[in-house]
Amino acid sequence: MLELRNIVKDYVTGPIVTHALKGVTINFRKSEFVSVLGPSGCGKTTLLNIIGGLDHYTSGDLLIEGKSTKEYKDRDWDTYRNHSIGFIFQSYNLISHQSIVSNVELALTISGVKKKERRERAIAALKKVGLEEYINKMPNQLSGGQAQRVAIARALVNDPEILLADEPTGALDSDTSVQIMDLLKEIAKDRLVIMVTHNPDLANEYSTRIIKLNDGLVTDDSNPCTPEELALEETERVAKFKGNKKQASMSFWTALSLSFKNLLSKKGRTILVAFAGSIGITGIALILSLSDGFHSYVNQIQEDTLSSYPITITQTETELSLETLLNREDDGLQEYPEGEDVNESQLFINILSTYTSSTYENDLASFKTYLDDPETKAEYSQYYNAIQYVYSNIDIEFYQKKESKYKQIYPTDKSALPAAFRTIADFINPVDELIDNQELLEEQYDLLKGSYPKDPTDLVIVVDKYNRIDDYILYTLGVKDLAEDLAIVAAGEKPAKWKGNFDEILSLEYKLVTRAEQWIDNGDGTYGQMDSNQFAEYCENAPVAHIRGILRPKKASTIQSFNGTIGYTKEFTKNRIETINNAAYIKAQKANPTKNLLNGDDLSEEGYNDIMTYFRVYDESKPSRIKIYPKSFADKEKIKEMVNKYNDTKQTEVEKIRYQDSVGTIISAVDTIVNSVTYVLIAFVSISLVVSSIMIGIITYVSVIERTKEIGTLRSLGSSKLDIANVFNAETLMIGVTSGILGCLLAMLLDIPVNLILASLTGISNLAFLMWYWVFALVGISMVLTFIAGLVPSQIASRKDPVVALRTGE
Ligand code: ADP
Ligand code: MG
Repeated sequence: MLELRNIVKDYVTGPIVTHALKGVTINFRKSEFVSVLGPSGCGKTTLLNIIGGLDHYTSGDLLIEGKSTKEYKDRDWDTYRNHSIGFIFQSYNLISHQSIVSNVELALTISGVKKKERRERAIAALKKVGLEEYINKMPNQLSGGQAQRVAIARALVNDPEILLADEPTGALDSDTSVQIMDLLKEIAKDRLVIMVTHNPDLANEYSTRIIKLNDGLVTDDSNPCTPEELALEETERVAKFKGNKKQASMSFWTALSLSFKNLLSKKGRTILVAFAGSIGITGIALILSLSDGFHSYVNQIQEDTLSSYPITITQTETELSLETLLNREDDGLQEYPEGEDVNESQLFINILSTYTSSTYENDLASFKTYLDDPETKAEYSQYYNAIQYVYSNIDIEFYQKKESKYKQIYPTDKSALPAAFRTIADFINPVDELIDNQELLEEQYDLLKGSYPKDPTDLVIVVDKYNRIDDYILYTLGVKDLAEDLAIVAAGEKPAKWKGNFDEILSLEYKLVTRAEQWIDNGDGTYGQMDSNQFAEYCENAPVAHIRGILRPKKASTIQSFNGTIGYTKEFTKNRIETINNAAYIKAQKANPTKNLLNGDDLSEEGYNDIMTYFRVYDESKPSRIKIYPKSFADKEKIKEMVNKYNDTKQTEVEKIRYQDSVGTIISAVDTIVNSVTYVLIAFVSISLVVSSIMIGIITYVSVIERTKEIGTLRSLGSSKLDIANVFNAETLMIGVTSGILGCLLAMLLDIPVNLILASLTGISNLAFLMWYWVFALVGISMVLTFIAGLVPSQIASRKDPVVALRTGE
């Protein structure tokens, strides 16, 4: 069944060659108890290791079941060890961090036997050696004899054909030795037991055959196996051939559990290593949570400001930057010249020509057609809150009856103001169009009383957070009189403060009359302005504007879409444009574009345009400005895409629409800065990751050294090199996971004080926040890094010669 043919084993250590075995030929029977005797250093252990496939012969041949092993690969030896061989060592070689039963199970674990069967077989084996009550004890809780019996149970659990025992009683007292020998004798009844011993008495008493070894050669064999016996065994073997044996292979779970128990047995160190490994992760997680927080804060601001800084497309767009304006050319002149020549610097002309060349006319009418197109709307309306068409200087006039006369309330008569102040006052625009998005309005404003506009002539008013209304709005509303207040101020006093209530404001109403309506047919085809009686009569029937609702910006809303105080709707604008276009004079003048109906003169095109401008005649299809309010910053890109799509349909540059997005430019610059800072910080912190990875590599290497014996034992039980590497890979992976999770948890904890500090410094709360996907990414990174760091030590472990590994510490 087992044949050694002229086995030679040489150990080469540098220049020295040790001839451990010098040509050993032995045949073993299927079941017998062989003792190998011989002085120390004669090659007994070497012989056993070669039989067990743990060490490989230099020359000769080892025949297993009649087959040569010359062509055996690592895998074949692993399988052979796992299934056919049981090893017992003088120093037991139990794995200290595994329970007794787990130790016994190990050979089965390695060959992938299921947990339940493993447990049953391990308990059966322990029963056989009389240790069933000890199954859950740890190896260090056992006496030497008990430990050796566990080792025997472990060797037997896979029911191997051959049991190899290297001085199994070498470390035991004589009583215990006898127990072990009885056990081995019992085992040898149905299998081959080869035992190396120093003790000739034990050998004589228990074994059925004694082989003496000296200086690498067999000097005596008490009961050699005859060729006849061998032939007989061979025919029996062929008759009982059970088929090929399954290859031993350890699942990664087994590797994980081995490493997990090892890590648990060194909790303190494991926690320290994981903590050290987590520092870099914590740093990166903190930076990421801050950077994310900052990005989302900026995004929030963008979203908020988008409603007050929409993409604006104006009729004339200039792409003029300060740089190009201030760029003074040297005109090829010499600096600090010697001569007396003086030259012109064309600063003003340059500015002018730059301005002209960088100013474009946008065809907003055509663009509006595109925007109003159902197809465009279907594709892009989801990306904007509203599109506002602005017509410059819409004619809105409020009239109120005072002492039976209609007096203009708005635009306020500013003639009483000092000239310089009047210019400033002209910039104040108390009446403005509301954004055409009810949802957005309701998001930004509380409706305090009344309702949002229902009719085209309805207005709303916005009060501030103290429910105040600015004085000039009160003049606009006709609640106070500017001239009266000015007179009081001129007298060196301060006018009394107005005080009112919601109902008072909601009861305000105005007659809406435009300039164009006030010119009527003189009866001869020319038009003249109404007299005061005609005007009063006209006003009686004019449409009435009501203040329908009172709004106030919401507490949480920092930025509003509406900058005025008195708000009107898109329909109001439309209504005004239509009213003007329907005015009798305007209609007549449009029908007669070459004749000035105001005085009967001929009219040039320019003159016609002047008249139309004076009467604020707009074509609804020709806005002077288009404001597009994107829903989010990302949607802004879609809006740009919409514009570009329009431009793509245009052949010439002139036809294309140009716009500016200055807020967007600033914000993306801020984003770029935040990103760069983030990258730089992460690069710095990554150094600590490198350091901790190296440290984990070193710790793993220490672990490899500490577990050398375990590596040898695992190999003797049939583990492959890959299995061994996996044990350490599993260990580094577990450290990696722990470091990663620990790092993220620490960062989340640190985010709390960081947020408190930031909130007190900046007033922005909850700035730092670790997104869940970073947790995954960071744990992954930590795993990858520690895995890479552990590769070298785990390779070292897997390459360890099992024979050398088992000898360490002896
Ligand atoms: P025994 O078990 O009989 O005491 P060994 O088989 O352990 O003897 O050793 C036989 C000889 O081979 C000794 O001289 C020993 O020093 C040598 N030897 C064993 N293993 C190695 C090795 N890995 N490298 C070099 N020499 C070795
Ligand atoms: Mg030895």
